[in-house]
Amino acid sequence: MIFRNGLVLTMDDSHTVLENADVLIVDDKIAEIGPNLTAPDGHEEIDASGGILMPGMVDTHRHLWQTAMRGYGADWTLTQYFVWYYLESGKHFRPEDIYAGNLLGALEAIDSGVTTTVDWSHGLQSVDHADAAVDALEAVPGRFVLAYGNIQQGPWEWATSAEFQDFYRRRVDGGKLAGFQLAFDVTGDPAFPEKAAFEVARELGVPVTTHAGVWGATNDDGIRLMHDSGFMSPGHVYVHAATLSSDSYHRIAATGGSVSVSTESEQSAGQGYPPTWQLRRHGIPVSLSMDTSVWWSGDLFSAMRSTLSADRAREHLEAHGKQETVTHHHLRAGQVVDWATRGGAKALGLDSAIGALTPGRQADVVLIKNDASPVMFPLLNPYGHVVFQAARGDVHTVVIGGRTVKRDGKLVDADLAAARGKVTATIDHLRATLGEDAWKQGMNPDIPEARILHNPYQYTK
Ligand SMILES: [Zn+2]
Repeated sequence: MIFRNGLVLTMDDSHTVLENADVLIVDDKIAEIGPNLTAPDGHEEIDASGGILMPGMVDTHRHLWQTAMRGYGADWTLTQYFVWYYLESGKHFRPEDIYAGNLLGALEAIDSGVTTTVDWSHGLQSVDHADAAVDALEAVPGRFVLAYGNIQQGPWEWATSAEFQDFYRRRVDGGKLAGFQLAFDVTGDPAFPEKAAFEVARELGVPVTTHAGVWGATNDDGIRLMHDSGFMSPGHVYVHAATLSSDSYHRIAATGGSVSVSTESEQSAGQGYPPTWQLRRHGIPVSLSMDTSVWWSGDLFSAMRSTLSADRAREHLEAHGKQETVTHHHLRAGQVVDWATRGGAKALGLDSAIGALTPGRQADVVLIKNDASPVMFPLLNPYGHVVFQAARGDVHTVVIGGRTVKRDGKLVDADLAAARGKVTATIDHLRATLGEDAWKQGMNPDIPEARILHNPYQYTK
């Protein structure tokens, strides 16, 4: 197939941008990029004029199973999230509920141009749950990395179990997943019980992904334990990393780790200030993620926009504190698009195959085009357009490994009615299990008393 006359953000090493260029796809790979390409007979042609072609986006941390509860936690803090999922209600999710959330979340990802997603799957309280998670991922034609976790047990328990080892052999080794990680957090307990899980990761040769630097949950102690024990290996992904000291950032940078930044999450839940302004100073590679649809949007346009804004907001705030003015922004739109594509591919060790539009790489291509939208012209600064102007509704066509999964703004062969039916069954089950009062309370946490300051200018009354 061939895309004709698009504005191409290749995201190659020099961030080459091509105007009026074609992208030729043969089988599952990008064959050629340039003007007026000759396409083989019988090819499919897609008019990309007026649109932007870019590599498929990569989300390095999303709890897909929570998509079944979309929007429920919009007014939560991180504390309320922990109480609801970790302590009270997470255990009520059955394997079919994991399947329902994963199916919906996976469809949502490919619909919004996220062609590779890490399913940070910490609801796997049994291997049946894990099988259901993988079944759903295999039912959707995207690339998915399973990050296996279980918040109902210590990682030293589940990761060392015979059932887990058996699952790994059955579903991961030689399976269809794009990758596999172990997903668990290091609490900073000086006894370092998580060591056993790191040893399993090392034995399997798979990376660890860990929520590190989360206010009130994980901190420098965890980083120090991992580092001192020799478990901070290249390829490990540190999620949020929002409340860490410079010393911890140095340890991450020196050991070849990267950080997955979930700006919408960090801003609203309270893990800490979105850390890109610190990561840049420490030379730490960045990828972007959406964390969970239980609060936020599941598309990386929001991630790019909020990340660029948060970074700049911090720069201004720091400067104003010193009575200074920022005259030039350090972080540019192009860098944030890089983080959403190449950055994610690099974090997953997949950058030789995906993350950029260059001949020989896998054909994971997103066309942003919407002729009915007054926002799609003029197209002057394409990176700025992707970050600040475009939205998921403008994702016109998505190709993954040469296969068209979305065309003319509509998912191809996706059974949304089936997904809706499964999610509805999950909601019915949880609502009945929790009871109507608990269900409503969970969604509507108490509002702290608001105190209006005394206003000295109001004399009348
Ligand atoms: Zn998370």
